[in-house]
Amino acid sequence: MGDYMSKSIWQNIKTSSITSKKDIETDILIIGGGITGLTTLLNLKNENIILIEANQIGMGISAKTTGKISIMQEYNYQNIEKTNNKIIANQYLESQIYAVNLLKKIIKEYDIECDFKKNSSYLFTNDNKNIPKVIKEKNILSKYINCEVINSLPNNYPCIYGIKTDESYVFNPLKYINKIKEICPKKIYENTRAISIQKKLDYYLVKTNKNKIKAKKIIICTHYPFFIEKYKIPLKTTIEKEYVLSSIVDKAYNANMISNDDNIISIRYYEDKNMIFASNKEKLCNKINHRENMENLIRKYKNHFPYKITNTWYNYDIISNDYLPIIGKIKGENILFATAFNKWGMTNSVLAANIMSDIIKNNDNEYINLFSPYRKTNKKKILNSITYILNNIKAYLNNKQKFIKYKNNCGIEYAIYKDKLGKEHKVINRCPHMKCKLTFNEIDKTWDCPCHGSRFNIDGKILKGPSTYSIIPKK
Ligand SMILES: Cc1cc2nc3c(=O)[nH]c(=O)nc-3n(C[C@H](O)[C@H](O)[C@H](O)COP(=O)(O)OP(=O)(O)OC[C@H]3O[C@@H](n4cnc5c(N)ncnc54)[C@H](O)[C@@H]3O)c2cc1C
Repeated sequence: MGDYMSKSIWQNIKTSSITSKKDIETDILIIGGGITGLTTLLNLKNENIILIEANQIGMGISAKTTGKISIMQEYNYQNIEKTNNKIIANQYLESQIYAVNLLKKIIKEYDIECDFKKNSSYLFTNDNKNIPKVIKEKNILSKYINCEVINSLPNNYPCIYGIKTDESYVFNPLKYINKIKEICPKKIYENTRAISIQKKLDYYLVKTNKNKIKAKKIIICTHYPFFIEKYKIPLKTTIEKEYVLSSIVDKAYNANMISNDDNIISIRYYEDKNMIFASNKEKLCNKINHRENMENLIRKYKNHFPYKITNTWYNYDIISNDYLPIIGKIKGENILFATAFNKWGMTNSVLAANIMSDIIKNNDNEYINLFSPYRKTNKKKILNSITYILNNIKAYLNNKQKFIKYKNNCGIEYAIYKDKLGKEHKVINRCPHMKCKLTFNEIDKTWDCPCHGSRFNIDGKILKGPSTYSIIPKK
């Protein structure tokens, strides 16, 4: 099999960007321009506010989603019930219905042309032992939305048992994000990476790669939050990686389909001709070989669909130890953040934006406590956290790739990748975020952190956080 470009079906929109080298003073600073940051900016657009984005707006995780806006979310509600209780699972479900309505309202109010469309969602299984799980999810969902039992899927993909709801939507996430960029043109600075936050007497000083920004309040929407709760967030969350591909198909269906047997299978259609197929869920620390993972996905896809593959890509998502997003204000600080959308970021980003804007405006919001970073812990959550820590230790210890040379100079370990022309690319072999050793990603030619997902280019320049620093050796 050949080389695979990591580019999603949505990444074909080009917009102009503003950067500033001048220092800036603002009341509110949003860090991170994905769907969470942009929706928060839209809610607060009448304030003295700016948003900075390390790269280009919307080109982070949001550019690589499958763009389903769904209340049916795999086995999320029963997972929440197990780690919390029935009441909390029901509250979460109510919050998702609320979020879908919020998103519909935003799209209508601002006339956002983003291919937003109602469709049907299917949750299915091909494993007898998972039928009770699907039934359980139906029982929880049925209290709020109509669900019917099915035993076949519209595109004839294998299915022994499943459920269907018509309360579901799809859209193009990048069209949505870019329209918000158009609505708030002078408030967004791209190619501006926050490097550090210092607390001063009555403001925060944010150093970026371009300038210094003074802000009274900060909202961190960087997917994986950094600077804050540096050690707590890794204890409460883990990262999963999913591989995705798209094809042009003969017939598109107005349907989303998802199963979570040993592996996730997630299918949606776009613009009456494209099919997006996601699978091969992996914990970030496992199977670091991207090429092998992508080839497994392609094999799985080809078993059922004869179509030519147009794009392949992969994406990360953050899973919390109780399957609820973490959204809120840091105690004693004027800093808010949102993370861990547990793979359902289209609804949860809009919800996070709503909660954080209400906190900023001192408005009540019925979901503040549900998603609070300081919610109570219990034995089940701690057990999940222990599994996450063990996974990270495994990643830390086990990731020496055979084709990379390692060199130790005065206590600093370097990793060296030799490219096809024989040129050696040397980097410091530690992620600056939490000192994990790095792996080389042969598909994208990047250095990736197997613990928390930071990425660096072949010569060590930072591409994606949580690290804010590069790993280029000093000359
Ligand atoms: C394969 C896959 C499919 C998915 N499909 C769905 C789906 O169908 N439906 C659904 O609801 N959810 C889905 N999700 C989840 C969803 O895509 C994410 O939860 C959501 O996009 C996260 O948005 P975000 O704004 O928080 O993060 P991002 O989009 O990553 O935005 C964060 C931004 O912050 C910027 N940033 C980072 N560090 C800095 C810094 N130091 N300074 C400045 N900027 C910085 C980044 O460059 C980035 O642009 C999927 C996830 C995966 C993995």
